[in-house]
Amino acid sequence: MNACSVEELKYLLKEKGIQPSFHRIHILKYLMENRMHPTVDEIYRALSDKIPTLSKTTIYNTLNLFSQKGLVEVLTIDDKEARFDVDVRPHAHFKCLSCGRIFDLWDVDVNVGDEKLTDFEVKSVHLYFKGYCSNCR
Ligand SMILES: [Zn+2]
Ligand SMILES: [Zn+2]
Repeated sequence: MNACSVEELKYLLKEKGIQPSFHRIHILKYLMENRMHPTVDEIYRALSDKIPTLSKTTIYNTLNLFSQKGLVEVLTIDDKEARFDVDVRPHAHFKCLSCGRIFDLWDVDVNVGDEKLTDFEVKSVHLYFKGYCSNCR
């Protein structure tokens, strides 16, 4: 996804019932334009120069709200820090133990149509792989 206009971002937020505040628009813009599953710290480092009023707490609270409203998926692939994925379509993740990059895996089957799940209402699916990426292996 390329750069998003403020109008598009406002639309995405409103569509999920989220009031499009200045901070929320900029955090969503960052997530849309940086698809590497950033942590709160990474978002803070990237935006705090441009937006001095932005605190880590605001980012944390905003991401919690986005997650509750189904706008982001929280990844717990890292032991230390939560990571945030703005692409909420079901997909698996691969973490490289050497460079730390997290890759999206779209060809791995994470479909929830399995008949064993018919009695359950699935809200999210997480499938994590860890190992070495093609650059590091
Ligand atoms: Zn790697
Ligand atoms: Zn992802």
